[in-house]
Amino acid sequence: SLSGRLQSAFSKLRGKGRLSESDVNDAMREIRRALLEADVNHVVAKKFVDAVKERAIGQDILQSLTAGQQVVSIVNDELTRLLGETQAKLERSAKPPTVVMMVGLQGAGKTTATAKLGRFLATSEHRRPLLVAADIYRPAAIDQLVALGQQIGVAVWAPGAEVAPAEIVRTALDEARRGGYDYVLIDTAGRLHIDELLMNELDQLRQLSEPEEILLVVDAMTGQDAVTVAQSFHEALGITGVVLTKLDGDTRGGAALSVRHVTGCPIKFVGTGERPDALEPFYPDRMASRILGMGDVLTLIEKAQAHFDEDQAKVLEQKMRNNDFTLEDFLTQLQQVKKMGPLDQLMGMIPGLGGALKNLPQGGMDEKPLKRIEAIILSMSPEERAKPELVEKSSSRRVRIAKGSGTQVKDVNQLLRQFGEMRKMMKQFSAMGKGGKRSMANL
Ligand code: GDP
Ligand code: MG
Repeated sequence: SLSGRLQSAFSKLRGKGRLSESDVNDAMREIRRALLEADVNHVVAKKFVDAVKERAIGQDILQSLTAGQQVVSIVNDELTRLLGETQAKLERSAKPPTVVMMVGLQGAGKTTATAKLGRFLATSEHRRPLLVAADIYRPAAIDQLVALGQQIGVAVWAPGAEVAPAEIVRTALDEARRGGYDYVLIDTAGRLHIDELLMNELDQLRQLSEPEEILLVVDAMTGQDAVTVAQSFHEALGITGVVLTKLDGDTRGGAALSVRHVTGCPIKFVGTGERPDALEPFYPDRMASRILGMGDVLTLIEKAQAHFDEDQAKVLEQKMRNNDFTLEDFLTQLQQVKKMGPLDQLMGMIPGLGGALKNLPQGGMDEKPLKRIEAIILSMSPEERAKPELVEKSSSRRVRIAKGSGTQVKDVNQLLRQFGEMRKMMKQFSAMGKGGKRSMANL
């Protein structure tokens, strides 16, 4: 995987203090290859690697004792920049209703994304959206949108498959003005491949509805094709933003990077599942961290905040920032995470832990590894939980803890190693935060 490849390149860098130019070149070659294999467009990959190299070699950091760490930070920075730097919000028309056209290939997730966006606007932004069923070629598409609308409690304009798309959109706009809707979200037809007929129809709908946003819905699992698709839609219609769907799948990096670069348009939302609530605003910095395998600590904290009281999350956040996050905190966090489910998604967000769980024999996402970690920490004294170094230094303590928790010394060692790794990553996060790039406080 892209993350896996990048992490291996990083672990070589991270371990080192001073670096030579050839260390950097080697690492960058590896990173470039990993990006290409993840279907990142070759122009994008080259630009990216060149930018990192220039900064790494140009800034006299190679002689510093933390050169490896700094290069990793630069990679993270540049990736964030490539992904768009800041979160791009949905535009709003000065003259409501704001019209949003959803376009893309068949199966990309347009109908689902239309409903998700409707739900997002209604629930998070307290707006009144009207969903418009303008894909008349697949009769099921109309039923699908109507059913989704019912499920999420959002109005759907669906005159039926006998009515021409242009007429559907025209009447939808009337209905929206009459009914005081402030967003009109148009679900359009797709094709398996781009063709002129489709583009002509979409262009007609565009001229008719003068949308504030034309969002291209792209399946994150499509590799290089995503680039061609994005290019064609952009040339024909002038898209304003991207919704990247199916990011809950395995391929999380390539498409995002390429589509952003090729169109110059921001990715505004990502789809992370089939359900109508599986839509999130896109954060370039979080995506960068996720690609780089640091785990998505920020998303995790946000989830935690949604589930627990805010004070507790603040304390946790402060501890991460000050780097005095202890095994005791880790245990608390694990126990809370257990309540949040689905487990595998959440575990993937904890730095170091996602990988660790994958390595377990026939791992699955049962709770066994979690229980083992819990047992080990519970067998430590409070002092040991606060200062894992004590355990690291003493083999008699490790033997005692292994016995007490019904595990083996190697399990104890593994946990300590993972925890050490996690702390290191948190340190990087906080260093980045202090650099003014982004602070966890403004979540
Ligand atoms: P359309 O042809 O572009 O309208 O695509 P649909 O909205 O009908 O979606 C095609 C399939 O992809 C459906 O089975 C959806 O449930 C699924 N889908 C859409 N978005 C996501 C997503 O973010 N994650 C996952 N796992 N599936 C999705
Ligand atoms: Mg559809």
